[in-house]
Amino acid sequence: MIVMKFGGTSLGSAENIKDVSNIISSNLDKHPVVVVSAVGGVTDLLLESASQLENGKVDMDILREKHESIIRELDLDVNLIKELDELESLLQNNLGKQITLKVLDEIQSFGERLSSKIIAAYLQKQGVDAISFNAYDMGMQTDSTFGQAELLEGSYRDLHEHLSGFQGVAIVTGFLAKNEKGEITTLGRGGSDYTASIIGAALKAEEIQIWTDVNGVMSADPRIVENAHTIETLSFDEAAELAYFGAKVLHPKTIHPAIDHEIPVVVKNTMEPANIGTKILNNGGESKDIVKSISVKKNITVINIDSTKMLAAYGFLAKIFGLFDKHQIPVDMVATSEVSVSLTIDNEDHLEELLPELEEVAQVKVEKDMAIVIVVGEGMAKKIGKAAPIFDVLAENSVHIHMVSQGASEINIGLVVENVNAEKAVQVLHKHYFG
Ligand code: ADP
Ligand code: ASP
Ligand code: MG
Repeated sequence: MIVMKFGGTSLGSAENIKDVSNIISSNLDKHPVVVVSAVGGVTDLLLESASQLENGKVDMDILREKHESIIRELDLDVNLIKELDELESLLQNNLGKQITLKVLDEIQSFGERLSSKIIAAYLQKQGVDAISFNAYDMGMQTDSTFGQAELLEGSYRDLHEHLSGFQGVAIVTGFLAKNEKGEITTLGRGGSDYTASIIGAALKAEEIQIWTDVNGVMSADPRIVENAHTIETLSFDEAAELAYFGAKVLHPKTIHPAIDHEIPVVVKNTMEPANIGTKILNNGGESKDIVKSISVKKNITVINIDSTKMLAAYGFLAKIFGLFDKHQIPVDMVATSEVSVSLTIDNEDHLEELLPELEEVAQVKVEKDMAIVIVVGEGMAKKIGKAAPIFDVLAENSVHIHMVSQGASEINIGLVVENVNAEKAVQVLHKHYFG
């Protein structure tokens, strides 16, 4: 069997849903389990209506029209989506209240709950034995970190139990889970990719397919670099680095369940299904290209920690990292010299609490509005000097580099530049490596 995940970009209109239905129908011999995101743009609209509640407004018009017009165009029964009324009463009940992350997850859940029903109904109309399921009713369980919930390991067993014997085509909600109390949680924005790979691992699928709006993982975000090209194969490590550092095409956690079970992940284009897209697999790193892709993650913060006396002292780094741990601030990139440590973070939620404690042990400088540009390719580990031009190319284009870091696996080089230079850095590096 295979898992096929369709993102919001593939589900933006009735026409798109027809295309998705054709792709599913032509793969029935592979026994697909289908994972779907919300209709394109709906999660943002749900967040927008949640933010209106504190101002005393319930605004459902656009959400209603978006879903009802798709249903009309697909010639389905409008009563199919009672969830819209359920959503309206949830919004009414929270009118004027301060919205907690828990309520926000419940509100966001309606996106996938609605899309899965519409797609299953349309497939049924085409004669396919499709049924929609909420992932949490199939065993998807997380902790209670609303908005960014962590999977509970037992989910693999439970999902297997619920989904493996199913004969028809299951259309499962991406992004959603429940905690042990039965409250709805979400896996983080873009999390439907992760749902697909969790289900793929639970069912030991032959392949996890991520269907989106571009021809696979490309040498750069095509919105930044016009002539970016598709990468035919990537290793799990290369894909994980790219996803973590900004390649939105894959949610950063997608690769892990696939690695554990060595399941290939294929990224394909719903609008161009004949294009082979990208295959991500264990030994997918080999290529004539030394550098494969350049990706960027904007709006990060650099923290420079300077301590002339103490850096070399035993336990100093442990103390610093202990403070990040205490305040639950994940660190993305690290570079050290004899007198200073520089780190990047992408979430400033607890920064104000962390800083005074850091300042007790060192001099601290914070640089905001920065971006990480990452150059990825397994070939870089073997080719000495391949990284050197990066510095010249950026200098020639007046892009100042604030920090440099190379991962231990040597398959990537990370550079911190200012947000305003982020796109330019990707463009000039892409031009240098690929023309
Ligand atoms: P979906 O709704 O299918 O999940 P996303 O918007 O999350 O789609 O991801 C697809 C988008 O990712 C593309 O439209 C593209 O602009 C962006 N993207 C960023 N980096 C890359 C890359 N290296 N390769 C391909 N797409 C990328
Ligand atoms: N609908 C969710 C989002 O927009 C999850 C996803 O699309 O993967 O973030
Ligand atoms: Mg996505």
